[in-house]
Amino acid sequence: MKPTQLFLLIAVLIAGGLWLYGTYIAKPRPPHKRPAGVTSPNGRRVEKTDEEWRQTLPRSVYNITRKQGTEWPGSSELTNEHRQGVYACVCCHNLLFRSTTKFDSHTGWPSFYAPIVSNAVYNEADGNRTEVRCSVCDAHLGHVFNDGPEPTGLRYCMNGVALVFELGQ
Ligand SMILES: [Zn+2]
Repeated sequence: MKPTQLFLLIAVLIAGGLWLYGTYIAKPRPPHKRPAGVTSPNGRRVEKTDEEWRQTLPRSVYNITRKQGTEWPGSSELTNEHRQGVYACVCCHNLLFRSTTKFDSHTGWPSFYAPIVSNAVYNEADGNRTEVRCSVCDAHLGHVFNDGPEPTGLRYCMNGVALVFELGQ
């Protein structure tokens, strides 16, 4: 085997391993506690036990939304979705983002500069990052960073598997 072939093989194995780790292998997490004072549009709530979520969601969706996983960058077709529409939570269908606030962050993840309404999502500290969760069902959606475009300067960096796109609203 040539060195370049070996390098490619190793790169593919590392990429595959990271993808598996992020999307298919649930990491042990303590149960999430919804912070006090969190509101949602129309006060709507969807609450299920961890076991109910595990049984009703596809495995990659469960591992990301309920176990804080991260999909492999570039793996979601929603990253390159540019049509007009809205993005809803895959777990509870809470409307989260409008296509008009979507921008190309070149990160490989669908990115938005603002939620559809301020209480569609809520933030929580996650180490040195800020986690974003659905305000209706507490699904982990992704993280928010301070390097986004105007007018908010925010970059909501979302997992595509946590979102459902609906054309033309
Ligand atoms: Zn939700």
